[in-house]
Amino acid sequence: MARERMKVAVLGATGAVGQRFVQLLANHPWFELAEVAASDRSAGKPYGEATRWLLSGGAPREVAGRMVLPAEPSAVRSGLVFSALGSDVAGETEEAFRAAGRTVVSNAANFRTHEEVPLVIPEVNPEHLALVPPQRGRYGGAIVTNPNCSTIGLCLALDPLRRAFGLKRVQVTTLQALSGAGYPGVSSMDILGNVLPEIAGEEEKLGREPAKIFGTLANASVEPAKLVVSAQCNRVAVRDGHLLSISVELSRPVGVAEAAEVFLAFRSPLLDLGLPSAPEKPVSLNREFARPQPVLDGDAGGGMTVTVGRLAPCPVLGLRFVALAHNTIRGAAGNTILIAELMAERGLL
Ligand code: NAP
Repeated sequence: MARERMKVAVLGATGAVGQRFVQLLANHPWFELAEVAASDRSAGKPYGEATRWLLSGGAPREVAGRMVLPAEPSAVRSGLVFSALGSDVAGETEEAFRAAGRTVVSNAANFRTHEEVPLVIPEVNPEHLALVPPQRGRYGGAIVTNPNCSTIGLCLALDPLRRAFGLKRVQVTTLQALSGAGYPGVSSMDILGNVLPEIAGEEEKLGREPAKIFGTLANASVEPAKLVVSAQCNRVAVRDGHLLSISVELSRPVGVAEAAEVFLAFRSPLLDLGLPSAPEKPVSLNREFARPQPVLDGDAGGGMTVTVGRLAPCPVLGLRFVALAHNTIRGAAGNTILIAELMAERGLL
């Protein structure tokens, strides 16, 4: 029997990530996008008029005429709320929705490191969703967070190696796309023919979040993994897709052939659950020349697959490779929707 679609809302629906939500939720088999909300600048206008649409294909017709609501629990009625709010407003707003008994699955950084809030990549640490019921007991609702867009690519790419060999130290250099800065984002004068070797707060997030994601759940909290990550982040003139150059020290020396075998054998732990947004391969090894690339590999698995390549020995840490993640799909809206699908499947909504 077909399941009844659950009504959902998107907060920050007019922004770069919000538009991805709107695109990915059009015709979603489990969720019906019933409400879109944004700032006072947009509230009261039809979505198609309030939004400068950035993706191919135009805004879905059924959403374009819908009135944008203020991002407040008194105006937005859906029980499941996806948040694509900037972190300057996400804190208070998401807390207000949680206090009103709603389930918020958020892209914003505000609650990612809170002890009671899970930080989830569904294929990596689905067990951390056990933090949801205690939150409901305390607040009525719950907040679940999506990691930083580069952190998601890094952790998914490392996960097959972590499971097989254990991780000790990681060095990562990112080349991050413009859509990661939202719209209008970085000025064209700053980025054309240029690279910006700093993204505010990003290196700290990459240093902090993997230890929680790879952490162990014990006594209703997460014991962080003992993992050292050193990150350097660059903004580059690419539209979508964050490329990561990664060197890793594993718990024992591992050769390229052995690591390649592990990547090739890796299968989604979610495969049997039938979640609509789960790709068959969350991580895919491409051994062709000069891969992965944002233009050629960003859309792999509908934007949900992280492509790895350029596996090589690293004379400093042991093994190195390159990974690519679509920043607004796997790195944002797509991963968030997958979290909600997993929660629905586990009876957590
Ligand atoms: P964005 O393009 O700047 O969009 C921000 C959204 O928030 C817009 O819909 C905006 O509405 C709304 N907003 C701003 N002020 C508001 C207020 N006072 N009340 C209610 N709504 C308000 O940003 P983005 O890139 O989509 O990022 C959204 C969130 O996702 C951020 O927390 C970001 O860190 C995170 N994130 C982004 C990416 C990425 O690749 N871009 C990846 C992972 C996570 P108006 O249009 O009405 O101003």
